[in-house]
Amino acid sequence: MDHPRSPDQVKVGIMDDPHINAASGGGGEFYVTTGLLQKADDLRLAGVLAHELAHDDLGHVAKAQALGVGLNIGMVILDQIVPGSGALTPIAGGLIARAYSRNEEYAADRHGVDILKRAGYPAQTMLNTITWLAQTEGTDSGGFFATHPATADRIEALRNVR
Ligand SMILES: [Zn+2]
Repeated sequence: MDHPRSPDQVKVGIMDDPHINAASGGGGEFYVTTGLLQKADDLRLAGVLAHELAHDDLGHVAKAQALGVGLNIGMVILDQIVPGSGALTPIAGGLIARAYSRNEEYAADRHGVDILKRAGYPAQTMLNTITWLAQTEGTDSGGFFATHPATADRIEALRNVR
C-alpha cells in the first residue's frame, strides 16, 4: 500500500448478495458479498480484496466520488453499517455501480499484484483470481462483471506488464 491504513480505519460491510462481488467505498470502507465469502478460498478472497484496495490506494474512489459517478449505492449502504458493532449482519442489496474507467481497472489489477506480493502472496494470485472469477461467475449480469471489464481483456493487460 502506498497509503497504508491502520486496521481500526478499515471497515468491511457484508452484502447479502449471492453474486461474487466486492467494492471499495473510499476512506478504508469495503464491501464484500456473501457470494464471494461462500465461493472464494483464502487466496481468491485476497485477490479480489487486493484489487479493491488498489482502487482505494490509487485514489480512484476519491476521483469517482468527486466526479459524482458511481458508488451511489455505496453511499446508501454506508448509513446502514454500524461502526464497531462487530455484528456480521449482511446488508440487503447489490453492487451495481460501474465507477471506474477501463484504464483504472487495469491499474487496479497491476497495483493489486504489488499489494499481494508485499503481503507475501504468490505472484500468480491476481491472475488466478481473475481466471477463477470468469469460470465461476461466467457472464452473470449481476456480479463482478457488471462492475468490471471483460475478464479476457484484464488477463491480457496483466500479462502484458510482465
Ligand atoms: Zn475494479
